[in-house]
Amino acid sequence: MELTFSCPSCGTVGQVAPLESAELAVCRRCGFTRPLHPEAISAAGLEACPWCLTADLYIQKDFPQALGLFIVLVGFAISTVFWYYEMPIATFAVLLVSALLDGVLYHTVPDVTICYRCSSQVRGNTGEAPGRFQPFDLAIGERYRQERIRAQHLRERGA
Ligand SMILES: [Zn+2]
Ligand SMILES: [Zn+2]
Repeated sequence: MELTFSCPSCGTVGQVAPLESAELAVCRRCGFTRPLHPEAISAAGLEACPWCLTADLYIQKDFPQALGLFIVLVGFAISTVFWYYEMPIATFAVLLVSALLDGVLYHTVPDVTICYRCSSQVRGNTGEAPGRFQPFDLAIGERYRQERIRAQHLRERGA
């Protein structure tokens, strides 16, 4: 497993790999060090965020959604050219191929597991039972967003 985190001190994105044997996350840029939570990974796989121990995690396909959209749009653009030249079979073949390509990509790219609270990402074989974590849930995401806003207010008042 590999952990991707954003340094709380300087914002640099850092990596910890392999996560299983790592005890510390160290920022390459500013040297910020933070102990990780080994208890976040149990025998049953990933249980919580190794960075902040939040059990609310969500999964997402580890490929830019813009890429999927790009494939569909390019397929559409090419197919309209064939359509213009009255080649319906070629038109539908192009549409079909781009849809297939998108589908194949979607099913072959692995998931990335992301923490609602700190947005740390865990890649690799996280080992948890299928369905343990769900795709992003707006209600849960909103709860953590509100929490971040409150924390920000408190910090500003304290400063
Ligand atoms: Zn840093
Ligand atoms: Zn976290």
